[in-house]
Amino acid sequence: MKKIIAIDGPAGAGKSTVSKICAARLSYTYIDTGAMYRAVALKALESGKPVSEELLRDIEIKLDESARVFLDGREVTKEIRTPEVSCRASDVATLGYVRKKLTELQRAMAARGSVIMDGRDIGTQVLPNADLKIFLTATVEERARRRYEELKAKGIAADLAQVVKEITLRDKQDSEREIAPLAQAADAILLDSTHLTIEEVAAEILRLATE
Ligand code: C5P
Repeated sequence: MKKIIAIDGPAGAGKSTVSKICAARLSYTYIDTGAMYRAVALKALESGKPVSEELLRDIEIKLDESARVFLDGREVTKEIRTPEVSCRASDVATLGYVRKKLTELQRAMAARGSVIMDGRDIGTQVLPNADLKIFLTATVEERARRRYEELKAKGIAADLAQVVKEITLRDKQDSEREIAPLAQAADAILLDSTHLTIEEVAAEILRLATE
């Protein structure tokens, strides 16, 4: 059984949905690292100031077993999902001191094992010794369509063409940044979810995790 599972890939590939399903089936802890970058972005937005090392000094980010997110003791699960926070998260994620701080927190969270962690740099930087690495992707059109449906279901107003633009921009920024860019680890298994259902992707990951 693979005890540490890393799932990386671009926005909207289905990482968090399949990770949650697989974590529940394996009784593993799911760690959504994107939510942590989003929490930092929300803190900066709410403070009205740019991110700084000071802003991060005593930041408290907690993820509970139901994937709820807490920033400095307050639940922010919904607030971190707006397009404004997505865009700001991608900006703060380019900063070395932000990545260093969150990478340390993420490694501490994974230390006990039996985890599925998803993000952009888990297989390459955060957990290079993970037992199973997946790089989950899909075409930009399909990823934007999924993100649009997700926002609509949450009652967040969105425009499909705008979501395509935002995802394309975020892909570019995440892949081209200097520190820990979005990349497939050399030993990661590539899964293209464009023509697969969530259940099919989850089944394949569970097969790889238990083989
Ligand atoms: O996965 P999600 O869309 O919630 O991530 C939000 C942003 O956080 C990403 O666009 C990316 O810039 C950043 N991120 C990152 N490294 C991770 C997870 C997320 O840079 N491990």
